[in-house]
Amino acid sequence: MIKYKLQCKNLHLFESWFSNSDAYERLNKGKLLSCEICGSNSISKSLMSPSVNSKENKPLKEVLKPNPNKEQIILKELKKEIEKNYEYVGENFEKEARAIHFGDSPERSIYGKTTLKEAKSLYEDGIPVTPLPWTDRKTN
Ligand SMILES: [Zn+2]
Repeated sequence: MIKYKLQCKNLHLFESWFSNSDAYERLNKGKLLSCEICGSNSISKSLMSPSVNSKENKPLKEVLKPNPNKEQIILKELKKEIEKNYEYVGENFEKEARAIHFGDSPERSIYGKTTLKEAKSLYEDGIPVTPLPWTDRKTN
C-alpha cells in the first residue's frame, strides 16, 4: 500500500491509499478518482513533497481547506429567494411563460419544470429563460 497526497483542479488537498503507483495511474486515467471536497475528477498528485511528519502537515491542510458547504449555502439562499419571489407553475412553465410574454397572463416572475426542447423553443421566441442550478423534486 502506498499513500499519495492528491490535489484537485480547485487546489483541494487530500490523501488516498493505493495498492501501488500503477493502481493510482490506472484509476486516475479512468477518472475513477474524485476530490473528497468538491468531487472533481481532475486529480493530480500534489506537488508538495510528502512529509512523514503528520503534525507539520495538519495546520497547512486546514488553512488550505475551503468551506465545502459554501456553494451549497449560496444555492440554498438563491433557491429561497426564488421560491419567495417567483410563482411556481410546475409543468405549465412553458405555457405560462408564453402567456405572460404575449400578455395573456398577468406579468410576474415564474419558475417551474420545463424540458430542454421547451426551453429552446421559448428562447427562439424571444422569451428569456434561465436554467436553475438544481433539480426540483417538489411534487405539486
Ligand atoms: Zn476539490
